Amino acid sequence: MAVAVVVGGGFSGVVAARELVRTGWSVIMADPQARPGRGVAYSTAARWHLLNSPVSAMSVDPDRPEDFLEWCRRRDPHTEGSDFVARGWYGDYLTEALRAVDEVAPGKLTVHRGTVSRIFEASHAGLTVLLTDGVVLAADAVVLAVGNPAPRHPIAAGDDVRRLSAYIHDPWQEDVLAGVADGPVLLIGTGLTAVDVALSLADREITAVSRHGLLPRAHAPSVRREVAPPPATSVATLLHWVRDQAATTGDWRGVMDGLRPHWDRMWRRLPEHEQRRFLRHVARYWEVHRHRMAPQVAASIEARRRDGSFRVRAGEVCGLRPLPDGRIEAVIRGHGGIDTKAYAAVINCTGPGRLTDRDPLVRSLVADGLAAPGPHELGLAVDEHGTVSGRSHRAPALFALGSARRGRLWETTAAPEIREQARALALHLLTMGIDREAADQTR
Ligand SMILES: Cc1cc2nc3c(=O)[nH]c(=O)nc-3n(C[C@H](O)[C@H](O)[C@H](O)COP(=O)(O)OP(=O)(O)OC[C@H]3O[C@@H](n4cnc5c(N)ncnc54)[C@H](O)[C@@H]3O)c2cc1C
Repeated sequence: MAVAVVVGGGFSGVVAARELVRTGWSVIMADPQARPGRGVAYSTAARWHLLNSPVSAMSVDPDRPEDFLEWCRRRDPHTEGSDFVARGWYGDYLTEALRAVDEVAPGKLTVHRGTVSRIFEASHAGLTVLLTDGVVLAADAVVLAVGNPAPRHPIAAGDDVRRLSAYIHDPWQEDVLAGVADGPVLLIGTGLTAVDVALSLADREITAVSRHGLLPRAHAPSVRREVAPPPATSVATLLHWVRDQAATTGDWRGVMDGLRPHWDRMWRRLPEHEQRRFLRHVARYWEVHRHRMAPQVAASIEARRRDGSFRVRAGEVCGLRPLPDGRIEAVIRGHGGIDTKAYAAVINCTGPGRLTDRDPLVRSLVADGLAAPGPHELGLAVDEHGTVSGRSHRAPALFALGSARRGRLWETTAAPEIREQARALALHLLTMGIDREAADQTR
């Protein structure tokens, strides 16, 4: 019986486990969280933390796109596919999806609560997986489903600031916002993470700062357009085409959504210097149009902007200094000049850091030559199946799913793309014929 170890028990881990068990594998899923299945995004119980995608996009099953809608209707019969429900609901759905794997194929899935620290090539064709609790697992294949790494510290946050409880390096750590002291709060970043934090700190005066001062746009009723994108080999042609389509249809959301299935092919067609140009000049604008807020979230944020309790600034946090009373003084340089103010808390909402720097397991894989940074160092070097390549060679049984494929792919962080990747990976493994008994004979 072939054994796959899935590292990570978030959405990617759940869909990987489902697909691998369906195709005959025994799966051991490793994740340190007490409630595996939810990962970072869906562990929240706050009712104001909503999915960023409508219910209709979020099924775990590529063959049954209505699966999540049907699940929601068992909770609330009035749910529509276009609704944006609580992320906590989605966490419950993923937990049930994981449980269902065991019900369908009893004994094929083991969930081990723990953190994988090293992965070695074994003497047979497979891999040896080491966990921090000392457990050692033999695997015929390993799937890295580790999600996004922790953010980098902003440059202005020196060691003296990083030590303070008023400085929150990673707002995704469990319960970390519960300890935020009373008083004004500074968010560094204005993306979806900043929006989430602002909703959690509803009674505070909040300033959110980023270079461009751009908030994600809101979802609105829109129809995904069937588009035939241009064979663009430059960012300029691509943008020109998008603007043209948006003007013709009067629905930029429909155009952005229609482009989504084509986007990775378009991304790969761009020469490397054009990809770099996109990352430098366009990516931030692209992201705020592509990764949108649920309408209810956008309405809450807009109300707070109107009453002045949430301010967004374009600028740079160029200095952070600890004050004797535990607060942090921040110097912000923006269009209107420089201002200095004391904050009860400074929260780093800059988004995920670089995987090959910030993730300890990935760092060890790179050091051991089993993995290497991929294009633009956004993720890992992988082939079209997600097979991970190292400096010197490819460990044929090590695969990456989701965010770790960023760079080779662009659209690789949301549920619809990841569930397709998991399906394709399971089929690829079938065709590769990795098989434990065959491996045993070579040991
Ligand atoms: C706030 C927020 C809202 C979002 N909303 C949507 C949405 O509405 N629709 C959508 O499609 N996408 C959404 N996303 C994108 C989201 O990232 C994906 O949908 C999906 O959850 C990614 O799951 P993942 O398993 O790849 O990563 P994660 O959820 O980050 O899970 C990774 C897991 O791996 C574990 N892990 C990491 N390293 C190790 C290790 N060494 N050993 C063992 N375990 C390890 C972690 O503990 C974690 O549980 C949202 C993301 C965020 C942050």
